[in-house]
Amino acid sequence: MIMQSKDIIIVGAGPTGLMMANQLTRFGVDYIILDQKSGPPDHYSLSTA
Ligand SMILES: Cc1cc2nc3c(=O)[nH]c(=O)nc-3n(C[C@H](O)[C@H](O)[C@H](O)COP(=O)(O)OP(=O)(O)OC[C@H]3O[C@@H](n4cnc5c(N)ncnc54)[C@H](O)[C@@H]3O)c2cc1C
Repeated sequence: MIMQSKDIIIVGAGPTGLMMANQLTRFGVDYIILDQKSGPPDHYSLSTA
């Protein structure tokens, strides 16, 4: 097992978690995102409108 050191753990890679990740990146904070799923939730969809 590879051990990593991060300042913040974001639990959940939905819109809220990704916005948090975006802000932390802007401020140079080291983080990791963990999600229980390997892909987007079923109710997510892409719009081309
Ligand atoms: C059927 C449906 C249709 C929708 N349609 C629209 C739409 O058309 N337009 C729109 O703007 N909004 C829509 N929404 C609302 C939109 O999906 C939510 O507002 C938005 O996804 C909320 O983002 P969130 O990051 O807070 O939560 P979520 O998107 O729910 O993300 C939470 C993430 O955390 C993860 N997670 C949860 N618990 C754990 C845990 N214990 N450990 C690890 N990971 C965990 C989940 O796997 C998930 O990836 C819809 C919602 C539903 C249910």
